Amino acid sequence: MKQELLDFLNTDLQFVKGVGPVLAARLNDVLGGRRVLDFMMHHPSGMRRRDLIDNIMDAAPGDIVTVPVLVQSVRAGRVFRGRRSPTQITCVDRAGNKIIVQFFNANFLDYWLQKLPVGQWRIISGKLERPSRGGNVINHPEFIEPMDAADKIPQVQAIYPAGEGLTQKTFANIRDQIFGALDTNVGLRGADDQTREFFDAMRAVHFPQDPMDLKPCADAMVKLAYYELLAHQSAIAITRRERADARHRRVVRPKKCDLMDRFYDLLPFDLTPAQMQTIDEIKHDMTRDIPMMRLVQGDVGSGKTIVAMAAAVLCAETGGQTVLLAPTDTLAQQHFFKLRPLCEKLGLVCECLTGRDKGAVRREKLISLRSGRTKLAVGTHALFSDDVIYRDLALVIVDEQHRFGVSQRTAMRAKGNNPDVLALSATPIPRTLSMTIYGDMDVSVIHQKPAGRKPIITTKLPMGRIGALIPRMMAQIDAGAKVFWVTPLVCDDTESDMTAAVARHEMLKKYFPTAGLVHGQMDKKQRDGVMETFARDDGDMSLLVATTVIEVGIDVPRATIMVIENAERFGLAALHQLRGRVGRGSAQSYCVLVHGDNVTPDGMKRLDVLCETDDGFVIAEQDLMMRGVGELLGTRQSGWIPYHFVDYREHRDLFKLAARAAADMTTPTEWTHDLMYMFDRATTIGA
Ligand code: ADP
Ligand code: MG
Repeated sequence: MKQELLDFLNTDLQFVKGVGPVLAARLNDVLGGRRVLDFMMHHPSGMRRRDLIDNIMDAAPGDIVTVPVLVQSVRAGRVFRGRRSPTQITCVDRAGNKIIVQFFNANFLDYWLQKLPVGQWRIISGKLERPSRGGNVINHPEFIEPMDAADKIPQVQAIYPAGEGLTQKTFANIRDQIFGALDTNVGLRGADDQTREFFDAMRAVHFPQDPMDLKPCADAMVKLAYYELLAHQSAIAITRRERADARHRRVVRPKKCDLMDRFYDLLPFDLTPAQMQTIDEIKHDMTRDIPMMRLVQGDVGSGKTIVAMAAAVLCAETGGQTVLLAPTDTLAQQHFFKLRPLCEKLGLVCECLTGRDKGAVRREKLISLRSGRTKLAVGTHALFSDDVIYRDLALVIVDEQHRFGVSQRTAMRAKGNNPDVLALSATPIPRTLSMTIYGDMDVSVIHQKPAGRKPIITTKLPMGRIGALIPRMMAQIDAGAKVFWVTPLVCDDTESDMTAAVARHEMLKKYFPTAGLVHGQMDKKQRDGVMETFARDDGDMSLLVATTVIEVGIDVPRATIMVIENAERFGLAALHQLRGRVGRGSAQSYCVLVHGDNVTPDGMKRLDVLCETDDGFVIAEQDLMMRGVGELLGTRQSGWIPYHFVDYREHRDLFKLAARAAADMTTPTEWTHDLMYMFDRATTIGA
């Protein structure tokens, strides 16, 4: 690919017109990156027609309508007995039907009046509602334009999976700018056929004309899915070859065994046979001259952390240093607090390094790493910053879901001398997929939980009956329990996740005054603060309302109740993950799947699967059978390889096709390198 094009793909989104640093940071949360490329990979999940109608009676409640209206009168919102009524602007359509346009944020009255001046025609577009008291209502129309600017309202609108604080207009604007620039400034004219074809497919997906254009079987989707799989399979093929390559062989380290014995003695519990076997497998890998590349798959709560610790001890025995890479500051800290006491007893220096460390504190930690004194460094990607130097980095442990693509791998390589790699994953992958997905790694499975764990009792509950939950929760909390209450991501761009979570928090605070709240629009520091308070044993926060931002792997042993609202809107894997945040101690835990009234048969079946089984592998197989792309919330959190364009169910043939093409390749072409770069696929670890 031309450098010019690469540079363009790498441009930070904050430099796109109308974006800026604040928006770019929000986009980063949703896209998992903040470059033009990251935006392109985030394709619309659906599209919406905004058909123009003249008579509002031709539309049904819930429809998105675009309709010319004559503005007739205004009633400003008022505060009455402590309640605020909305501002109502009465309009009529061409057929003379009354339409009430409502606004809830009273502060902008002048703004709305200016947009909808009395006595004039405007064209508006929004969601039609017909409340039970009658009439046609549109709350906060997404578009209000003068009649001669009707073309500013798109007839078909691509709908992007949005996330908090981001509107569809923002997405449409960025998309238009990006593809505009691709046409004019950057120019694909000089590009080779493959490159051009690739970006044409991208364009087709970002500007859908018909809902069929976004189905997995659409030409452009198939093309992109194939390229994505080719990128992944090429990476697997390369890694395999590299590992087998003699140049990457290493001298096997001599080791002593007394530390390991002491480690076993210190454990407050007996390891499960599955944990023991995994440790044996790791031990065996470490004695080979080929660097270890092992994935430990084990359901939430199966005890992977202690296995990771064992690996670190084995490594320390040879004098080597270990880094344990966690996806977030909170999780890094949590690991650190757990592992440090154990390290101290073993005489191993353990440090935690995250983006929070600054100045002298950070410098001291860096010195200790450089001298080789620190044997276990727990932290985030900050562990791979340029100025972090290791004396003898011999083992890299990657905890759950950490993105581990080209850039991370290169950074890691630069820090050590072919270090062993151990990845931990809490998401069981269906066995049928495991080979193609983890083709470059050896896999250990921890298929049993520590003895004495009670299965989580899971039940369904219709939304209308959540009142019955309150006394149950109160009783449990009085007995010392902690409760997670998860509110869903909201698809519809007229509402936001935050509003749902905030409203629920308000309601629950009446019963549980100390209830905490976390959502994606909160400052990260603030969010981490609340999480930590909730996780603390001595704190008085016993209930935490959260959007799906609550993190995978967060360990709150006293949490025994997990309530998931609108559970039908989550995917199976995501639900299983969320549920796994309770049931970590010896007490009986409960998961309540709260669902709406109109659940599809598929949605209900998902909930039933969850009520019936606790076995992650069974759930994964079911998930593969039932999975549809795009329709489920939280697929990002499902924990399988989060492909952008690949649909596990619909594209199964492509997996084989791509694997074959990659295996046949003796050396990767420039194009496959470009693909690996674009999809950021170096290896599959946790990514
Ligand atoms: P995960 O696999 O989800 O990362 P953790 O490693 O966090 O699970 O372990 C969950 C809990 O189980 C921790 O509190 C840990 O101390 C405990 N644990 C791990 N192994 C055992 C065991 N063999 N017996 C009893 N408790 C264990
Ligand atoms: Mg864990």
